[in-house]
Amino acid sequence: MKTPISEIFESLQWEWKNTWKPSIFLRFWWCNLTCKRCDSKYSWDKKIEKPKEIKLEKIIEKIKTFHSKHIIFTWWEPLLYQKHIKKIQTELPWYTFELETNWSIEIDPELTFNQINISPKLKNSWSKKYKIKALESDFRYDLKFVCSNLEDLKEVKNFIENNKFKNIKEIYIMPLWTDKKSQVNKKIINFCIKNWYNYCLRQHIILFWDKKWV
Ligand code: SF4
Repeated sequence: MKTPISEIFESLQWEWKNTWKPSIFLRFWWCNLTCKRCDSKYSWDKKIEKPKEIKLEKIIEKIKTFHSKHIIFTWWEPLLYQKHIKKIQTELPWYTFELETNWSIEIDPELTFNQINISPKLKNSWSKKYKIKALESDFRYDLKFVCSNLEDLKEVKNFIENNKFKNIKEIYIMPLWTDKKSQVNKKIINFCIKNWYNYCLRQHIILFWDKKWV
């Protein structure tokens, strides 16, 4: 089975619950939402970069060469590749698994994840409209929203209040901007404090800017 990937590398997790955890990132190719504001269009836009079609067995061998035993299946969009994820989980049962997804696709209940991170798209992402699948799911998950102003923050609040999420563990708010100074935004921090949301910096951008890790 060949798997279209954008990149595979070892680093630290820079966001979400497992920030600072040494991890292997498996970045698949293609996203079903193709948001106009996506910050990694190279992972789904063939005009920028072509996918690497690699045999799944080779990917598993590559994974084994890394130090970490924690695999992050990350956009763009891992749930398009659930058969591939299943095979990796079967071959490497002693690893732990983390998922980063827009969750516009149902998760196969036979898959197992130690951590699920969902990033629902706000109007500011200019994505296609879609229905989030978390509502029907029994998996437990964290949510993260990318915000730049009070309108975005209100949209988050409405989104949480109007949807009957039953399995949210944590909610994260991440600043939209990528420059270092704007990342620490008092308005967003105050909103997080008042609403008991977590603030999430883009640590990798602060530390490395836009360096790509292949
Ligand atoms: S859902 Fe995420 S990865 Fe997919 S296009 Fe939108 S921003 Fe990019």
